[in-house]
Amino acid sequence: IGNLRGKKVLIMGLGLHGGGVAAARFCVEAGAHVSITDLRDEKTLQPSLDKLKGLSNIEFILGTHREEDFKKADIVIKNPGVPKSSPFLKLAKCVETDISLFLRFSSSPVLAVTGSKGKSTTVSALHHILSASFPDARLGGNITHSPLNFLKDLKGWEPVVLELSSWQLGDLQGKGLLNPRISLLTNIYPDHQNSYLSMQEYVEDKLNICLEQSEDNIFLYPAEDPWGPWCAKRTRARTIAFYMDSEPEKNKDGLFFKKSSAILRYEGKERELFSGELKIPGKHNRINIACAAAMAYLYGIDRKTIEERAKDFSGIPHRLEYIGNINGVRCYNDSAATIPDAVVAAVSSFSETVHLITGGTDKNLDLSPYIRLKDRGNNIYLISGSATNRLVPILIKQGIQFKGPFMSLEDAIEAAISQAKIGDVLLFSPGAASFEMFKHEFDRGDTFRKLILEKSV
Ligand code: ADP
Repeated sequence: IGNLRGKKVLIMGLGLHGGGVAAARFCVEAGAHVSITDLRDEKTLQPSLDKLKGLSNIEFILGTHREEDFKKADIVIKNPGVPKSSPFLKLAKCVETDISLFLRFSSSPVLAVTGSKGKSTTVSALHHILSASFPDARLGGNITHSPLNFLKDLKGWEPVVLELSSWQLGDLQGKGLLNPRISLLTNIYPDHQNSYLSMQEYVEDKLNICLEQSEDNIFLYPAEDPWGPWCAKRTRARTIAFYMDSEPEKNKDGLFFKKSSAILRYEGKERELFSGELKIPGKHNRINIACAAAMAYLYGIDRKTIEERAKDFSGIPHRLEYIGNINGVRCYNDSAATIPDAVVAAVSSFSETVHLITGGTDKNLDLSPYIRLKDRGNNIYLISGSATNRLVPILIKQGIQFKGPFMSLEDAIEAAISQAKIGDVLLFSPGAASFEMFKHEFDRGDTFRKLILEKSV
């Protein structure tokens, strides 16, 4: 697309997560004529609009999309939340995204991560490890920070870690832009089935993480997840599998665990990446951090640094985040758990009695993973919502007892605290979307944090 100077750029979907704002700023600074169109109204978009203050000459078309704007634009920058099937996109001469613009204009080496769950934790751990050797290493993408925000500061050699969602990857399809030095697929669980017609369609978007990688680059994938090998067969990159519960065959490379050690067998040689306790709980986090450690090792970071940094990583907000202690009960915020499989992973992270607050807004997911909680006691407190309405009969049929549904998170917390004993864990892991009761999952987690801190000692 060459130089943006003088080009007519239409941003489709300003959004609230920063990609639209970053794209607008980047294009204005590059000398483009920028218009922004979003189906949401000014009031809803106010937080994003505030961030654009001080940028002149942006035209806003809010509450609607107009055909003529799409026809006259040289470039349309699509928000990942806009469906690919939108008829307005068919009118566009050229469709880009904040990620595709970044990849066009940056020459920094990229390490990219996708998967249904564990993306943000893994990219944050990877960035934490890389930063020890590369203080200028950057982190962006789906983790609500567009890489366009730091593009102009890059010198071209510092590693850039990108978290990419299935939608962001789908938008890159066929563009020949994404060729990460190392890419990772964390896992595949049913998700976003209200937007995709099938699991295959969802995974095909995710496959773009490795589809255009060259032979000398590396794709790390989950050996025990059927979709892992499915993707590995379709890339030209060198592939390395990781194993949570088993080990690779003797003559095969792979990332796996031996007792408390994370081992990478690479080119036939075994290296211990770290061993012993980590700061964040959960088997799922152990594998997230092992994958980050393996990526850092393959990128050239020394093992001593990797071990130090992996063990020093204290996690990120809203993912099994320790908040405080109420009468001897430790309280954790896992609001980023938006699918039932994440709830199971979270509960399994504790050997103590867990009082689970769960439920929320439906996104047409299979709720049967909850059945796996049957042998974890009956300490479930439901918060109201459309997913909860579907969950109630499933729990009843399975004989799993619960309290609620409660109309507010505060009531659910009260009920859980009144039942919990010293040494127990209170876990907020909703396993559902948030938008009926909250703005988004981080607003939901912030509300939980505030309520707990008010009560904790
Ligand atoms: P993502 O960015 O992919 O949504 P996060 O790292 O933000 O993933 O974690 C979100 C939630 O998913 C966590 O709170 C935890 O409950 C669950 N989770 C994290 N990693 C894994 C994993 N490897 N397998 C299963 N569930 C996970």
